[in-house]
Amino acid sequence: MSLLGIPFDENSSYLRGAAQAPPRIVEALFCDSSNLWTENGTDLQGRVRDAGSLALPSDTPAAFGAIEREVAGQLRQDARLILLGGDHSITYPVVKAFAAKFPDLEILHFDAHPDLYDQLGGNRFSHACPFARVMEEKLARRLIQVGVRTMNRHQREQAQRFGVEVLEMKDLGSWPALNFQGPVYLSFDIDVLDPAFVPGISHWEPGGLSVREVVNLLHSLRARLVGADVVEYNPARDQSGRTAMVCAKVVKEIAAGLLGR
Ligand code: MN
Ligand code: MN
Repeated sequence: MSLLGIPFDENSSYLRGAAQAPPRIVEALFCDSSNLWTENGTDLQGRVRDAGSLALPSDTPAAFGAIEREVAGQLRQDARLILLGGDHSITYPVVKAFAAKFPDLEILHFDAHPDLYDQLGGNRFSHACPFARVMEEKLARRLIQVGVRTMNRHQREQAQRFGVEVLEMKDLGSWPALNFQGPVYLSFDIDVLDPAFVPGISHWEPGGLSVREVVNLLHSLRARLVGADVVEYNPARDQSGRTAMVCAKVVKEIAAGLLGR
């Protein structure tokens, strides 16, 4: 199991800083304040490797090309990967690489935002757009979004157009079980959590999930996980380092799911 950093935040629409996240999450994961056992009894000691971070140009098309090539190369070696963002724009080139290996890919997406804008501020690669690109190019057979609480008319139309299943925060309590048929890529935007738990994010969107609810949802997954990302952690807003520990906790529980595939 490898953790690969993708330190890229050129497509953040509001605040930069997510590019600084990967080493901070790794540091929190291996911090002596906790151990490497997951709640369900998987010992990650010696099974999770820090693969460092990619060196990327600031130009988006060039960076996306490099990300797709690097991830594809890792997948050819059958690596089990968790990508550490970076802003959410990185998920588009990452999913391109996964879709080439897994044609029947399904995506489970945790986020306060649907990230389905056709463009934002004229940028079609914005971190508000990756799932519009993924669905247009039919890179996933199914997209389920969990924790959304920022739908507007345009994004609701986009969700309908692409057949996206959206489990909105307001309907928590009547969400269906998270069951999947095919291989699943999990894209985890840390801002799905309530900002009370994760101040170190660019977009504080109140009314989100608790850490406990997220961990329970991850444990409830019935899916063959083949890869994942954890994105949008912004260390510039995380004075106490608390958000890094939450990211590390999420990475741990996802890693256990990947190792059990
Ligand atoms: Mn997002
Ligand atoms: Mn978000």
